[in-house]
Amino acid sequence: MANRPRALVREMGLRDGLQSIRTIMPTATKLDWIAREAACGVPEIEVASFVPARLLPQMADAAQVVPGARKVPELMVSVLVPNMRGAQDAIAAGAMKLNYVMSVSESHNMANVRRPVSESLADFGRIVEFCRGLDPTRRPIVAGGLATAFGCTIEGPIREERSRELAAQLVELGADEIIVADTVGYGNPAAVRRIFAGVLAEAGELPVAAHFHDTRGVGLANVVAALDEGIVRFDASLGGLGGCPYAPGASGNIVMEDLVFLLETMGYATGVDLTKLIEVRKVVQASLADEQKQFHGALSQAGLPKNYAHV
Ligand code: ZN
Repeated sequence: MANRPRALVREMGLRDGLQSIRTIMPTATKLDWIAREAACGVPEIEVASFVPARLLPQMADAAQVVPGARKVPELMVSVLVPNMRGAQDAIAAGAMKLNYVMSVSESHNMANVRRPVSESLADFGRIVEFCRGLDPTRRPIVAGGLATAFGCTIEGPIREERSRELAAQLVELGADEIIVADTVGYGNPAAVRRIFAGVLAEAGELPVAAHFHDTRGVGLANVVAALDEGIVRFDASLGGLGGCPYAPGASGNIVMEDLVFLLETMGYATGVDLTKLIEVRKVVQASLADEQKQFHGALSQAGLPKNYAHV
């Protein structure tokens, strides 16, 4: 099939997944995972989070993981940063892309990054300015993320227009990309259509990405709704690694293998070799012996159907 539309999948397991489990994965195991998954054709991996090690010991080796990941050919090495300090440390380590995290919910932002949304916005502006002052060879892409866009475990409902308003401010401040996140799995396809339509209206030519969790089983339905709005960038994690601390036993990010299967069978080109990816999932799952309940997904259970043609 020629001229299939491109879809970009981004692996979140090394950050979103590993930060929500008890086991601390050794640096070498993380780098092995990154190299193996990139070799399957996954073009972008969020490899770490630059937060204080006392808050997230699982991410304490972020400054070692980034330069290790940079050795992998053709991989976009992204990291999560919550503030200027994190951004500077990430840039010093060699991060190619900063995914800045800020919540649409005022209470969640206070709980997560300990400051009001207005301060997070101001800091985002300072990070963009700081990056623009860097030599182009060291300048990262700066993405502005909107967490809890679909609802919040503290506040409950979140006004849908708020995502559009904050997206407009991130664009104004110089974001290179906008990420809209259903951090706690409160979304549904109808809300996805409304919220993404609003954000896209503000984003203009800028890429907009979707970050869904499958906490309540509608993650892939949300992907289809986002595709309908023209979104082609999706975050996911291998085996759906990572739960939700507020919903014990529930799945975390949407499952990478199942996402690739959905996109490829719908006619999108992800560039990912799904047969190889399923093998990498087995390796990663085996490396986390005490976390077997954290792994989810349909494809790894059922296997590829005979009518699946990887192009
Ligand atoms: Zn997430």
